[in-house]
Amino acid sequence: VTPETAQRNRILAHLPAEQFEHIRPHLELVGFAAGEPLVEPGERFEQLYFPVSGMISMVAVLKDGGGIEAATVGYEGMEGINVFLGVSRSWSRLMGQVPGDFLRLPVADFERELPAMPALRAALLRYTAAMLATIGQTAACNRAHEIRQRAARWLLMTDDRMRRGPFTLTQEFLAQMLGVGRPGVSLAARALQQAGAISYSRGHVRVIDRGVLEEQSCECYATVNAEFEAVMG
Ligand SMILES: [Zn+2]
Repeated sequence: VTPETAQRNRILAHLPAEQFEHIRPHLELVGFAAGEPLVEPGERFEQLYFPVSGMISMVAVLKDGGGIEAATVGYEGMEGINVFLGVSRSWSRLMGQVPGDFLRLPVADFERELPAMPALRAALLRYTAAMLATIGQTAACNRAHEIRQRAARWLLMTDDRMRRGPFTLTQEFLAQMLGVGRPGVSLAARALQQAGAISYSRGHVRVIDRGVLEEQSCECYATVNAEFEAVMG
């Protein structure tokens, strides 16, 4: 893995070259698909995941088999915070959301090398704080804001993670992620299309007008972004 590839992940980009060398030989670039299972609730993490493209979803799984998205992770973050916090198991389901690539790091190598990488430790502490804020805001958002606003927020966030490129997404998937019925998501997607914010055809999404999409979104998109930038710097 070249330093250039690793720098496409914002956490790894915090690492000075000599600290990066501690994990470089253990990183592996792997593609992932939409819906691809990575870790189930209660399972031990074998790997940490640093996306360089695409998006991974962290899903809270309910007893009836349903699941609602608690958070997403793209190139700005890492999946496997629990390991960093000293907990080897996952509380949530991790799965591919929008296809992409991540750098995979075995947990054993991470734990052995972390003491030699204070910059990684500092970045992960800040990222943990940002992630807690994001999950808290999302809990409020799910209770207080309408489906169309939440769909707009989700699409803006995904557009950022895709570095403003088009992405694929089924309505079924979006409904599951937002924890709402499919008809509600269809209506929301149509309204966003009619407003000129997005184009959406056969599962391909493209953001046409960011300004309109931001107007359609609730405050949570801007709130979380501001918090994330303030914390991560
Ligand atoms: Zn909201």
